[in-house]
Amino acid sequence: MLTDIEIAQQTKLRPIAEIAEELGVRTEELEPYGRFKAKLNDDLFTRLQDQPDGKLILVTAINPTPAGEGKTTTTAGLGQAMAKIGKKAVIALREPSLGPVFGIKGGAAGGGYAQVLPMEDINLHFTGDMHAITSANNLLCAMLDNHLQQGNLLGIDQRRILIKRCVDMNDRALRNIVVGLGGKINGVPREDGFIITVASEVMAILCLAKDLKDLKERLGRILIAYTYDGKPVYAKDIKADGAMTALLKDAINPNLVQTIEGTPAIMHGGPFANIAHGCNSVRATRLALKLGDYCITEAGFGSDLGAEKFLDIKCRMADLKPDCIVVVATVRALKYNGGVPKAELSAENVPALEKGVANLRAHVENMHKYGVPVVVAINRFGTDTDAELQVIDDCCKSLGVEYALSEVFAKGGEGGVELAKTVCKVIDETESQFKPIYDLDKTVEEKIETIAKTIYGADGVSFTNQAMKSLKDIKALGGDSMPVCIAKTQYSLSDNAALLGRPTGFTITIRDLRLSNGAGFVVAYAGDVMTMPGLPKVPSAEKIDVGEDGKIHGLF
Ligand code: ADP
Ligand code: MG
Repeated sequence: MLTDIEIAQQTKLRPIAEIAEELGVRTEELEPYGRFKAKLNDDLFTRLQDQPDGKLILVTAINPTPAGEGKTTTTAGLGQAMAKIGKKAVIALREPSLGPVFGIKGGAAGGGYAQVLPMEDINLHFTGDMHAITSANNLLCAMLDNHLQQGNLLGIDQRRILIKRCVDMNDRALRNIVVGLGGKINGVPREDGFIITVASEVMAILCLAKDLKDLKERLGRILIAYTYDGKPVYAKDIKADGAMTALLKDAINPNLVQTIEGTPAIMHGGPFANIAHGCNSVRATRLALKLGDYCITEAGFGSDLGAEKFLDIKCRMADLKPDCIVVVATVRALKYNGGVPKAELSAENVPALEKGVANLRAHVENMHKYGVPVVVAINRFGTDTDAELQVIDDCCKSLGVEYALSEVFAKGGEGGVELAKTVCKVIDETESQFKPIYDLDKTVEEKIETIAKTIYGADGVSFTNQAMKSLKDIKALGGDSMPVCIAKTQYSLSDNAALLGRPTGFTITIRDLRLSNGAGFVVAYAGDVMTMPGLPKVPSAEKIDVGEDGKIHGLF
């Protein structure tokens, strides 16, 4: 079979204006970025605001292997398959970060014959949203350091600065740095550090903001530091919110692209699913719901991270109600969860799989707790054997959950027809009774405990002294009424990456908390979560190149 990029490059793309027109988007509502990408502007939002919403389908997964489990591939493929059965679907996805593109995972625009295109552009600079977000964040940092330099009227304690600079790159050497060296004219020396752009609060804010006004208010509310006498300092206190909003004026508009089969896809925003809430912008989801009869969207990592945050943070804040949740499962990830090392995942191993399906059970049961109907999508790999697929079939039957084999990677939309029909049937037959897993009027500790016990399967939660101290500060600033965003490993339902399958008898340790005041949630750190990943020994970047014809190679 051809590689993802070879398949992408042999596809003849349709002009984006044509895709937009079919969707009912008017010329003046479309801002083309070249021939195959466009932004959708506010006129479209205004015109559609009273239109009824389509059905909302969330694609999530079991605990993944390090390579990802095919959620984006399934999302794109399900969108393509909907068209095959005569349904009007619009896909809503995150835009990729350069970190994973050049690191281990590679691109994030789907795979095989279920991809969103032009994949080279999408995976590299796209329409410049990452640049705008990086710039807005770094403007805030520059203004803060300048405030220190120009006499520090607010009395900001340079040992208690909370925001960091960011760059959209895996670059571990920037994790901890010292700025302001070189004497008086070069700033006030202090410890600083970089995080990756997709872990920044500005990214989370862009994804949760309703409109430009809401964006500016949220940016102004970012908690940036404390003063010497312990008072909070917000971005608006150093007058950074207006200019930051100016930098994000175009980035707030969702991007329209297409799948390999011409299905409309709105890709916008891309917060990490551990440190932030892990799904595309509220504005992209809203538009997709207005423009299509079905909006298919993805949340990052497994359902314990991405879907939980999609449901408890995003849906609650944006007043969205999911109609169906698709849980993507693969034979290889379930074998991984059954204890098979990464290098041996291609070989048949029914006993390991029988052990690993416990993980699928947990995710399906968890999603049912939200009152939303569930469909399992078995994302088929070439190495899957019939005996292995049978184990997953049996597991789904015993759970009483609807399921379908998905072959969209190998066959495109045609390979997802069964899945699309199953999803539509479930939506028609079962009314969603969506309800978040915790109420906002509970304390932060209670919210964390509910997630830990109900979703992770933990016995309880313990807080370190540092966490208790931060919690006190956060409560003093009004954080108790916010939803919580737990940052933990994606490989396990627990906070220990080595506990695969469906672990029991563990507690979750919260080592620190942080107020994402502009985004509107409290981040609770369970374990060491990277806000600036590093590159692996052999980064994907080594294989990426451009030919003399200008064609990119080695991107996957
Ligand atoms: P996720 O969104 O869950 O992180 P992706 O859809 O990005 O996962 O897929 C991760 C990687 O796995 C991609 O490189 C993709 O091409 C590949 N992949 C996905 N599904 C299949 C499949 N059925 N067969 C082979 N490779 C696949
Ligand atoms: Mg993905």
